Amino acid sequence: MRGFDFAAPTTIQGALKAAKGKKYRFIAGGTNFLPDLRHMHDGLPQLVIDLSRVDALRGVSLAKGEVRMGALTTMTDFLENKIILREAPILAAMSAKFAGPIIRNRATVAGNLIDGGPAADSVPPLLALKAVVRLAGPGGKRAVPLDEFFTGYRRTVVKPGEIITEVAFPAPGKGHKWGYYKLARRNAMAITVVGAAAVLKLKGGACREAGISLGSVNPAPIRCYEAEKILEGKAVGLALAQKAAEACRAASAPIDDIRASAEYRKLMCEVLPRRLICQALGIPLDQG
Ligand SMILES: Cc1cc2nc3c(=O)[nH]c(=O)nc-3n(C[C@H](O)[C@H](O)[C@H](O)COP(=O)(O)OP(=O)(O)OC[C@H]3O[C@@H](n4cnc5c(N)ncnc54)[C@H](O)[C@@H]3O)c2cc1C
Repeated sequence: MRGFDFAAPTTIQGALKAAKGKKYRFIAGGTNFLPDLRHMHDGLPQLVIDLSRVDALRGVSLAKGEVRMGALTTMTDFLENKIILREAPILAAMSAKFAGPIIRNRATVAGNLIDGGPAADSVPPLLALKAVVRLAGPGGKRAVPLDEFFTGYRRTVVKPGEIITEVAFPAPGKGHKWGYYKLARRNAMAITVVGAAAVLKLKGGACREAGISLGSVNPAPIRCYEAEKILEGKAVGLALAQKAAEACRAASAPIDDIRASAEYRKLMCEVLPRRLICQALGIPLDQG
C-alpha cells in the first residue's frame, strides 16, 4: 500500500494552509478514518492532517445563552463535562448508548457529523437542540444550521478545505424536558435501528418550543417540523402527543436492511416519539 504524508498543525490557520492544493484528509479521533483506510485503494490521500493538536478546536463553554462545543469534543466529554450535563443532559443519554468507552474516548462530535450517515447518533439530539455548525475554510468562516447541514446520504454542505470548528446550540434552559432513545439490536456497540430525540421548552403549562428528530429512517437524520408545530403553543396531553407522533411517522422514509424491516422502523417512528414526549412531560401513556 502506498503511504501518505502526515501533518499535525497546532492552529486552525495552519490546518487550512496544510490542506491547500493537496489531496488531503483531516483526522480527529480516527474512529471512522482508520477503519475506512483499508478500503481507500485508489482514493488514498496524499496528506493526512491531524486536527487533534489544534487547541482552538477544544473545550465546552456557555456564553450569551449558547452552549459552544469545540469540534474535538468527544463522546466521553458528553458524559462528563459539567456544562453539558447541566445544560443538555440529552447528549449524555445519547453518549451512554454510543459504541463503548474506548471509541467514546476518541470519537469527536465533528467526526460524527462529517460521517453524515443516517445512524450518526449525535445528530438526532443535536437537531432537537437546534444546533448550528461553525466552519472555517479558504473562503472564510460560516455557520450552517444542523438541519441544513446534510444534503443526502453521507453528503454534507462542507466544502473542500473546510474544517468544522464548533458545534453550538441555544441552552434550552433549566425547566426544559427531554427524551432520547436508541433502538438497536443490543445495548452497546450497535448500529441504530431507529434513533429519536425530543427537547421541549415549557412556559405556564404549555409547550413553548419543541425540537423533535429521528435518525436511521431517512438518508440523513431529520427534524420533524410538523410534529414540532403540533406541540408548540399548546398544553400537551396524550391526544396531542399521538398526533405529533403520527407526524413523525409521516416524515420518515425508512428502508429494509439486515437490522430491521422498513415496516417495523416506520411503526417505531410513531411509538418512540409518542413515548418520549409522554415520558418527558409526565403524561400517563394509558390516559383515556
Ligand atoms: C467500533 C466502532 C463503534 C462505533 N459506534 C458508533 C455508534 O454507536 N454511534 C455512532 O454514531 N458512530 C459510531 N461509530 C462511528 C465513529 O466512531 C463516529 O462517527 C465518530 O464520531 C467519528 O469521529 P472521529 O473523531 O473518530 O472521526 P475521524 O475518523 O477522525 O474522522 C472522520 C471524518 O471526519 C472528518 N473530520 C473530523 N473532524 C473534522 C473537522 N473538525 N472538520 C472537518 N472534517 C473533520 C475527517 O476528515 C474524516 O473524513 C463507531 C465506530 C467504530 C469503529
